[in-house]
Amino acid sequence: MFLGDGMSIPTLAAARTLLGQRENHTGEESHLFFETFPTIGLAKTYCVDSQIPDSACTATAYLCGVKANRGTLGVTAEVPRWDCPASVDTSSHLESIAAWALADGRDAGIVTTARVTHASPAGAYANIANRDWENDAEVRADQHDPELCRDIAYQLVHTYPGNQFKVILGGGRREFLPNDVVDEEGTTGRRLDGRHLIEEWQMDKIMRNVSYQYVWNREQLLSVDNDLPDYLLGLFEASHLQYNLQANNYTEPTLAELTETAIRSLSRNKKGFFLFVEGGRIDHAHHENQVELALDETIELSKAVNRAAELLSEDDSLIVVTSDHAHVMSFNGYTHRGGDILGPSDGIGDDGIPYMTLSYTNGPGYRPYVDNHRVDVTSEENYRDLNWRSHAEIPLASETHGGEDVAVFAWGPQNTMFSGMYEQNQIPHLMAYAACIGPGRQACSSATTNALTAVLLTPLLLLIRNMLK
Ligand SMILES: [Zn+2]
Repeated sequence: MFLGDGMSIPTLAAARTLLGQRENHTGEESHLFFETFPTIGLAKTYCVDSQIPDSACTATAYLCGVKANRGTLGVTAEVPRWDCPASVDTSSHLESIAAWALADGRDAGIVTTARVTHASPAGAYANIANRDWENDAEVRADQHDPELCRDIAYQLVHTYPGNQFKVILGGGRREFLPNDVVDEEGTTGRRLDGRHLIEEWQMDKIMRNVSYQYVWNREQLLSVDNDLPDYLLGLFEASHLQYNLQANNYTEPTLAELTETAIRSLSRNKKGFFLFVEGGRIDHAHHENQVELALDETIELSKAVNRAAELLSEDDSLIVVTSDHAHVMSFNGYTHRGGDILGPSDGIGDDGIPYMTLSYTNGPGYRPYVDNHRVDVTSEENYRDLNWRSHAEIPLASETHGGEDVAVFAWGPQNTMFSGMYEQNQIPHLMAYAACIGPGRQACSSATTNALTAVLLTPLLLLIRNMLK
């Protein structure tokens, strides 16, 4: 499963246009790799208590199959956000499709360009009342007992199903280290409980007598490819991975490289695997109104999906690509064919002032009016700088998510099930059905039933035919 965090439908259209324009075409006719998949559907993203969701309740929906409250992960809507005591009752805990896969003898893993403890990947393994409790200091800061409500990093290392993941690749070292330990790149840990969870993860593998490796840079990642351990933990940044366009190419692997290592590792299990891959920074760039970064991160996700499709067979591997929620970037005006997707619209506002083809309803890109006039952002000479903020109408420190549907693209066995419009929490049930795992009806069991019916009916039909002779 591939997730573009915040990859709204206008983001797809703008990203494919940028991709085409980078190749010196007009652009609009281009396509992201997964846009060629045979089946496309639409998912409704609202959560139990929110019209417009966040990445935590949506992760609970598309990984655990149940809608929940905003900000919560892997717990039912009986648990309000921040309610540690309510989340202790295990009857509120949900299992993810990663756990369903493990229960069937398959393997599971997570890959993300965000922190591995961030909301989207945490949906695969955490049961927690607040997505921000990524380390014990955050639990304490909200006046809760971290022994009672274990933080997300602790859960990944020490509790099921995270402690069984064969591959964990992303960012977030600071959540795993004590506040008196400095990581490989000079950032201090955030934990107050003194735990060094990277060492504890390794100790756990030693105790279980399995091979393991911890890596923290691209070179190490590429070298393990030749001799893959049973368990691989890669944490490439203290927080999120850098944006692809701003990354240090020596220390930072691309999402496609991370995906390839994960698939090579997990493919060793003959029964198969569930892998979650997140392009986590599309969302962050949108929140900053930094549109080129958001589009480039979308193109990076497309490359990762392409790599996966090269490594896997359409006959036995289902690939689902979707997003958790939309954003409020709009693709607007009446620009001519081939117009710079990152440039000005051909149109002029009724106030006589030009505007950009891509802009936002809200966010930090708001410019105060000058002499009662909207600022002409198209005259800002640095508008092609990566850190330039697109125009936003409403001032907000962080741009908001959008409430519209997200696209779902499917390739491989049972892909046609993903057509149509449905609730986001149906997605893992469909994937589980196709994979013959999980608690619900399964493609394999109904196939078995059909085969059984045929076996039982054949003698009966023969008997009837003989009687009619
Ligand atoms: Zn967001």
